[in-house]
Amino acid sequence: MSDTYNIGLGNNEPDTRIKADSDFVSFWDDQAKNLFWFSPWEKTLDWQPPFARWFVGGTINASYNALDVHQDSKSQKPAILWEGENGDSRILTYEQMLTEVQKFSNVLKSLGVEKGDRVTLYLPMIPELPIAMLACARIGATHTVIFSGFSATSIRDRVYDSKSKVVVTADGGYRRGKIVKLKEVVDEAIEGFDFVKNVVVVERTKNEIQMSSKDKLWIDLMNNASDNCPAEKLDSTHPLYILYTSGTTGKPKGVLHGTGGYLTHLNSTFKWAFDIKDSDVFFCTADIGWVTGHSYVVYAPLLHGATEIMYEGAPDFPDASRMWDILQKYKATIFYTTPTALRMFMKFGDEIPNSFDLSKLRLLGTVGEPINPEVWRWYYKTIGKEKCPIIDTWWQTETGGMLISPLPGLETIPLKPGSGTLPIPGVNITVVDENGKDVEPNTKGYLVVKNPWPGMLLTLWGDDEKYKTVYWSKYENCYYPGDYALKDSDGYLWLLGRADDVLKVAGHRIGTAELESCIVSHDDVAESAVCGIPDEVKGEVIIAFVVLKEGVITSTNVLEKEIVEKIRTDIGAIATPKQIYFVSKLPKTRSGKIMRRLLKAIGNNEKIGDVSTLEDGAAVTEVQTAFDEIQKSIKDSN
Ligand code: ATP
Ligand code: MG
Repeated sequence: MSDTYNIGLGNNEPDTRIKADSDFVSFWDDQAKNLFWFSPWEKTLDWQPPFARWFVGGTINASYNALDVHQDSKSQKPAILWEGENGDSRILTYEQMLTEVQKFSNVLKSLGVEKGDRVTLYLPMIPELPIAMLACARIGATHTVIFSGFSATSIRDRVYDSKSKVVVTADGGYRRGKIVKLKEVVDEAIEGFDFVKNVVVVERTKNEIQMSSKDKLWIDLMNNASDNCPAEKLDSTHPLYILYTSGTTGKPKGVLHGTGGYLTHLNSTFKWAFDIKDSDVFFCTADIGWVTGHSYVVYAPLLHGATEIMYEGAPDFPDASRMWDILQKYKATIFYTTPTALRMFMKFGDEIPNSFDLSKLRLLGTVGEPINPEVWRWYYKTIGKEKCPIIDTWWQTETGGMLISPLPGLETIPLKPGSGTLPIPGVNITVVDENGKDVEPNTKGYLVVKNPWPGMLLTLWGDDEKYKTVYWSKYENCYYPGDYALKDSDGYLWLLGRADDVLKVAGHRIGTAELESCIVSHDDVAESAVCGIPDEVKGEVIIAFVVLKEGVITSTNVLEKEIVEKIRTDIGAIATPKQIYFVSKLPKTRSGKIMRRLLKAIGNNEKIGDVSTLEDGAAVTEVQTAFDEIQKSIKDSN
């Protein structure tokens, strides 16, 4: 871990950290003043552990801050440059966005949606999705977006849990050139739910759909709606949305976010991390169905009046050059994506990205999983041409926004591949042992947050008790994210994977991310997942699953030896896997995260049960294929 990169943008505001360290409450108080408030707050933070309420008594509106505030100076500026999977495109200016949002706010009102009601949005990545979210925010309805790859059962659970009055969907959505019939899925999902009063349908794919008396076409409602709807003055703590976490570790949790604190967090982190300028063209590849899409596709860029690209489809459709093509076409300056996507692009080699003009890029970001140093360096060299800082941002659905990240908009510090560097100003993050004591530098432990922060979740929807036990019961008055980490002697944080995935071999604790990064650093390896399984002799042994890059011809026997050798030199013999399985795919959630608990089940020869109950309906066949292949290779090797 010796290589560092002295790349910065020359910004330096050392005062910010000094202020934040001396008093985080008054620090965030100052940050909140960068937003538009209808009336000021009386109390900056009301902290009744573990419940935090920020800017109490202040009134604010998310849609007003995203749209109305830009109408004087930026009404004709593009807010969204939309690219359809099939090549369609649309540009929406800040003025057009405001018009559409006000109209849809009036539509929702006409359907009886009131402040405090919930509205489920099950839409593809089309501009109607942010429009509907902002329309909910405008009238104080709480939106709950469900990723458009989810199955009827997943939607049914969520709609029921949130008791949504209205569901907004589309006739269909494009995924890899095929039409996913979303309206059909909704019909099945809400059958018998009388509390759902209406379903609004956007026509995207024009496939045939059944319309019942509950169902209304978006276009018909919008044609009759007035384009004037003043934004509601909402309490700072008013619930903006419910979002269910991606489900890597089991049953999804309904994370509830408020308004004033959440927006303050996003406004500041977007400026610090991306150093956003009026001339930037920002591209975040996240689906709005995930928190990254909520925070850094919808709210943060619009708060800043930025221009951003929104892409509808699969990142490798029609081929592996699609992302580079979009970056070139729209002259993107900032690109924010995931390690899983980067590993996929890397698998196809450098020739493809090298044949595009990516010279406008000035900043690159990643989120979602630990980024392997090997992949970091590839991103830095091949995509950023050694001139763009890599912003490795650590955060969660629950944190609302980034908590650990390099911040080129604030300060210039050396980067280290694989480290998210330092906590953002105004949060106190450290690494502790099982007893909650700070560990020595370079010692592995659990990441904790020692104070409340503005983007923090309000609670889990309808389940305060679960909120307390999941996040606040391991350590007193400390937020426990469930991630394993290490702080080096420069104070840089290294995220080492999930705490519940830690490999315990002969008394040693090895993070899954450490071992996977080592395996991925082999030239022929594209992806890897490791997990521990019980062993009669050793207590636990490690097994590894490896996906090779395209076109690798070396025999797996040779590769296995080389990988083992690498692990022995880089980490130590203790981390040598008992078995390495070469597979063509790893089972992942639709947000691209490896489902290690399933690999573990296979490794243990357990029945993995009915895969159709997996959260992710659309990936079931892929997951099943991966399972079958792994099981076959286990059998073959025995
Ligand atoms: P669930 O909570 O349902 O299991 P999830 O944790 O995958 O799902 P998210 O909130 O989307 O849902 O993901 C947050 C997690 O992703 C973090 O806890 C961490 O494990 C991982 N993560 C996110 N960003 C990074 C990063 N930059 N480096 C390392 N890990 C990251
Ligand atoms: Mg989580």
